[in-house]
Amino acid sequence: MSDLSAVKPGSLSPADLKPLPEVKTSTPEEVAQAVRAARSAQVTWGQTRQSEREKAMRAFARAMLERREEGMKVMCAETGRDPVENLMSDLVSAGDFAAAAIRASRKALATEPIPLSPINYPGKRAYIEAVPRGVIGIIAPWNYPVLNFLKGIFPALLGGNGLVLKPSEYTPRTGQWLAGLLQQVTPTGLVQVVTGGGSVGQALLESGIDGVVFTGSVPTGRKVAARAGELLIPCSAELGGKDAAIVLADCNLARTVAGIAQWGFHNAGQDCAAIERVYVEDAIAEPFVQRLAAFASKLRVAPGAPVSDFGPMQSTAQLAIVEQHVKEAVEKGAKVVAGGARTGPGLGFQATVLDHCTQQMKVVSEETFGPVLAVIRVKDAEEALRLANDSRYGLNGSVWTQDLARGEALARRMEVGIAQVNSHALVGILPEIPWTGTKETGAGVSNSRHAYPTFVRRRTVFIDKNKGPDPWWMPADESSKPFSEALARQQLGQTSALFQLLGLLGKRLKAIKSLAGG
Ligand code: NDP
Repeated sequence: MSDLSAVKPGSLSPADLKPLPEVKTSTPEEVAQAVRAARSAQVTWGQTRQSEREKAMRAFARAMLERREEGMKVMCAETGRDPVENLMSDLVSAGDFAAAAIRASRKALATEPIPLSPINYPGKRAYIEAVPRGVIGIIAPWNYPVLNFLKGIFPALLGGNGLVLKPSEYTPRTGQWLAGLLQQVTPTGLVQVVTGGGSVGQALLESGIDGVVFTGSVPTGRKVAARAGELLIPCSAELGGKDAAIVLADCNLARTVAGIAQWGFHNAGQDCAAIERVYVEDAIAEPFVQRLAAFASKLRVAPGAPVSDFGPMQSTAQLAIVEQHVKEAVEKGAKVVAGGARTGPGLGFQATVLDHCTQQMKVVSEETFGPVLAVIRVKDAEEALRLANDSRYGLNGSVWTQDLARGEALARRMEVGIAQVNSHALVGILPEIPWTGTKETGAGVSNSRHAYPTFVRRRTVFIDKNKGPDPWWMPADESSKPFSEALARQQLGQTSALFQLLGLLGKRLKAIKSLAGG
């Protein structure tokens, strides 16, 4: 392969290195103009009925499904993945996703009446309502060029906001396609897309947006979150991962091997929630590794005919990280039992299984983001748990066992945002469930009602229908002390205090009216 390091990101297809059509970089003025346009359209959108917004979002999901061939074509060109993989990972669940996202939004956006004691706060009522923040910027990476946006698009628009999308420079055309679908179902100007590299993301942050949803690497996430902090705007940061799976001796071996391969190699492991570390109890390690290696050796990397299992690396930079991690692991004693090399005419890398890995290897301690499963043999579940938790990251974790109660107890001790038994990361496409992590994965929450603080602020509305003053208002007089005492005692459940309050009420009101008149 010739030196591609100088090639503009996103200008070649990763599958075969053929050139892709040029995409213009948005200027800072164009980014600012996009935010202004979204803001102007948001004024009306923020006041539309919830049912109208839901209708638009259903139409958007429908368009994604109906125009899936077109979307897959764009995605295939940019990601190099097989059409089936693109369909399955980014588009196929759009209808369910919309329905669940709408259900979650109803919970998050519902006005909440606040019960107030009629004795302490007579004549008053209060409620909390959700108010759109304004314009939300979504900055997304390339690995799931549609899905990474959906988790922000739905709550942002259902919450009544305008939207500016900033896709990765590796996948701008998919971002444009997605924005085009949205623009057809929303008022003119409400949804914008800006394209280009990190500087365009920076410009978006500086253009007066009211909230930012960032998905990407830890170093960039830190910068974005810091700037959002200075700007005093909410930022949901969802960053890297190094997910662990714990395989117990009593697991269903065939299903576990297939499941670990699925979550390790899907999308060439370019998934924040890919299984990258597998802690296997010694008692089952030998057959597990043998079967996993055999499984991995059969997997086909795109472009393949008639079908392939996963695509190439997105970039030469990503490919270099994968190769470097594998090389270092082998130098430190790991054994390659499947794959381990480049493949195909593009940036493909074989499904790779490394046995006898240790915590000291990069392939175990740093995010690899490639089709590499590092197997670490352990004596028991406790050792597995200790090593799994020995990580900077904490997104998903899973335990594979037939003893569901034991698995659940162990999974709940994993330091992760999403703990699973016999499954991994599936909840990413279920928008009623929070997708969240801990440690350097970041504190961001997407999906579910718990994601909404980024998209709406809360406004308290407090209404007092009393015609006269409240009895505790100024001025103080000799009735003030017994009145406050009675208030305190009635909260202790002393019935006599209620009668005392009634008796003092007239005195208090008279004292206030004598000063205020009326
Ligand atoms: P990056 O952090 O490099 O980029 C993410 C996005 O931020 C891109 O659109 C990028 O633009 C943009 N960007 C880059 N610099 C800046 C800046 N200074 N200010 C604002 N925006 C900027 O991540 P990758 O694209 O490499 O994505 C891979 C990472 O994403 C992995 O670490 C992965 O784990 C993580 N990820 C996390 C997920 C989660 O839910 N926790 C889900 C998916 C991925 P450009 O690409 O054009 O340079």
